[in-house]
Amino acid sequence: MATDMDLVVLGGGCAGLSLALRLAERPGLCRRVAVLEARPAYHHDRSWCFWRAGPHRFEPLVKRSWSQVALRHQGQVVQVDCSRTPYQLLESGAFYDHARQAIQAGTAVTLQTGVTVLGPPRPVAGGWQLETSAGALTAAQVIDTRPPKPPRRGDALLWQSFLGEELVCDRAVFNPGQVELMDFATDITGAVAFTYVLPLAADRALVETTLFDPQPHGPAELAERQQRAVQRLCDGAWAQVLRTEAGILPMGMASEAAASVSSYRQAGLMCGAARPATGYAFQRIQRWADGCSAALRSGQDPVGHAPDPLLTRLMDRLFLDVLRHHPERGPELFTDLFARTATPRIVRFLSDRSSFLDRVAVAASLPTGLFLRQLLGATSPVAARPQST
Ligand SMILES: Cc1cc2nc3c(=O)[nH]c(=O)nc-3n(C[C@H](O)[C@H](O)[C@H](O)COP(=O)(O)OP(=O)(O)OC[C@H]3O[C@@H](n4cnc5c(N)ncnc54)[C@H](O)[C@@H]3O)c2cc1C
Repeated sequence: MATDMDLVVLGGGCAGLSLALRLAERPGLCRRVAVLEARPAYHHDRSWCFWRAGPHRFEPLVKRSWSQVALRHQGQVVQVDCSRTPYQLLESGAFYDHARQAIQAGTAVTLQTGVTVLGPPRPVAGGWQLETSAGALTAAQVIDTRPPKPPRRGDALLWQSFLGEELVCDRAVFNPGQVELMDFATDITGAVAFTYVLPLAADRALVETTLFDPQPHGPAELAERQQRAVQRLCDGAWAQVLRTEAGILPMGMASEAAASVSSYRQAGLMCGAARPATGYAFQRIQRWADGCSAALRSGQDPVGHAPDPLLTRLMDRLFLDVLRHHPERGPELFTDLFARTATPRIVRFLSDRSSFLDRVAVAASLPTGLFLRQLLGATSPVAARPQST
């Protein structure tokens, strides 16, 4: 049966637009693509940060690049010089604009906003039938980037919940040269809590309150802690909130999403994009979009996110198990990790570019006894994302 589209992408967020912009630039054999996005309009709703481990296609969009980051715990400060691999900020607003311009400039991809996809795609002859708020359509191939379900306790080993506020103050209170990566709180039990500060200028910053906890937390639950962090950082200065952002990122999904079939793939944050140890997903989504667009333009089936190497999966899973069972040790583990590992090694490890020696160096920086006891005790099985056909 002839289908309306070669490919329909469900969800035009980071993953959907990353794929779409590549296909718009070079469609190859994938010439009739629709991206269906529920939100009626885009706005700058999140700030993507990552280590610049090499050249990348979004260099012109980078808003800030820092050569120094710091971690703080009980008066101890670990200062990290990352000038060879700067910590970079890309604002989602700039990314959405860039992707939409690329889509408009080509003829292969259409982006339909304000269209909600209803339920799962239904297999039909030659592809898939989709029910949407704007009617039904068929596609030979489908990429589904919708979150399969809302965050729930037990679905991830830990959830990284955060609430951020972009502030402007009436005087200089921030150090614009240094990111405060993790400033750990000591007034909490059962979770790891810290403040994250991205200084945009001496009087302006994105200040985030973050929790690593088996229980996901919405922004309302973080508001009081955030207010205290802002008061402390602003040190009496008058501060205006320009915008807020919030998220709940999975750190180690307890079970992987249902297996895909060859012409239907799930992708995105909850379906293999998030690095378990960090919850970071932006760079992994870009790598997936490179691979998936290459497959599609040469007439092959779409691909999902590649599983991490076994050793990385084991290390991430053990690290998360330790954090989950000993959250009180979290601040010490992160500060040790950065204090005792050469910065290029840890950046490669966190950016999925590590060598065997990098992994050994990361493991050697952590307390052996604690990890061995956890390994012999309560480690949960390591799930690999199935790549079924
Ligand atoms: C505030 C915030 C900050 C983050 N910061 C970082 C960071 O610094 N570094 C990093 O690496 N990662 C970060 N992440 C994690 C990750 O990079 C982002 O969550 C990223 O946006 C994930 O991309 P995605 O496409 O999976 O999800 P999204 O970008 O959320 O896209 C999913 C899209 O699907 C749409 N949708 C959902 N249901 C339907 C439906 N039924 N029909 C049609 N459309 C639908 C949604 O409207 C949405 O646009 C952050 C996440 C958040 C929320």
